[in-house]
Amino acid sequence: MSTLGLYLHIPFCQSKCRYCDFCSFPGRSAEAVDAYCIALLREIEAYGEQMRGIAVDTVYFGGGTPTYLPKERLAALVESVTKHFSVNADAEITTECNPATVDLPELQALRAAGFNRLIIGAQSLSDRELRLLGRIHTAADFKATFEAARRAGFDNLSADVMFGIPAQTAASFAATLRGLCELAPDHISAYGLKIEEGTPFFAARDTLPLPDEDTERQMYMDAVTLLAEHGYDRYEISNFAKKGRESRHNLRYWERMDYLGMGLAAYSCLGNERFSNTEDMARYLAGDRLAEHEHVSAHDALCEAVMLGMRLERGVDFTALAGVYGDAAYEYQSRLSKYQDGGFVRQTERGLAFTSDGMYVSNAILSDILDFEN
Ligand code: SF4
Repeated sequence: MSTLGLYLHIPFCQSKCRYCDFCSFPGRSAEAVDAYCIALLREIEAYGEQMRGIAVDTVYFGGGTPTYLPKERLAALVESVTKHFSVNADAEITTECNPATVDLPELQALRAAGFNRLIIGAQSLSDRELRLLGRIHTAADFKATFEAARRAGFDNLSADVMFGIPAQTAASFAATLRGLCELAPDHISAYGLKIEEGTPFFAARDTLPLPDEDTERQMYMDAVTLLAEHGYDRYEISNFAKKGRESRHNLRYWERMDYLGMGLAAYSCLGNERFSNTEDMARYLAGDRLAEHEHVSAHDALCEAVMLGMRLERGVDFTALAGVYGDAAYEYQSRLSKYQDGGFVRQTERGLAFTSDGMYVSNAILSDILDFEN
């Protein structure tokens, strides 16, 4: 293992959004939050002992809403990470943050604690769409949080937006993107809404005024064009960045590099060992953390490397993959190259990548060509 990325899960939110199936609990008491932070500190310390000497180059606090925590708790967690792990001096240290959960002094405190990248969950700049999603904030709250983050010294800011929201039109999505571009974040993630089982949206799926498939596709294609006009390169299917502002942490996932997840329901992948923590809070608090552990076969690791690498604009270097996984890599190159005729796949200097049309239907193409054993 040469370097490591760390993920820390904070499973609390002020309230539950109507589409959300993430592991997050709304409105938990201060005592419950404190108990969780103490258990997480114990996990950080335990893994820090085991991983001493391995250079950590990204740390990512996700959720949930990490900024739901008292900010001194967040600061203590990042301090513990830097104390117990060998965190590089230039490590990317990110936290997700929701509008209306932090103010300027708190953002200044987070910056002083070592966070150098912030992801703000905008989702939409239409208050009507935000209400339909069940978000707690307004577009004005997002702008205020964004501007406060800049004032607090965050020079690496990302914003998340969604398309395919009930009642959203191509025009309203484009207005959200244009409004975002005026604020000039360094990075933008644009995800299509998925209706997940067990959510209020799933229960109401037959009556939700969702945009049709063609409109949703149009929204995505418009995003690619509009963001490119404003200087954002798409470097992954759903992620756009100004030069040099790609998410180093997420690139680790797509490049199938090692990451260690800590906290409730967190996932880890170290080489070909994949494991996850329990989603049961009582078990987690008692220190009984491990839920699943799986050894990934070399064949499945190769399929994963193709699946994740093809999410990237630069695509997959099959010669390099063959160096790691053997000649089987060329079989997938050959299967993918058949999609060149339809205009879904393109040849690059280093191998193959999806075209814009291919990116939009990448899941279907990859499930057609990959043959996972498990
Ligand atoms: S803020 Fe994010 S994690 Fe929390 S409920 Fe909403 S979508 Fe889920």
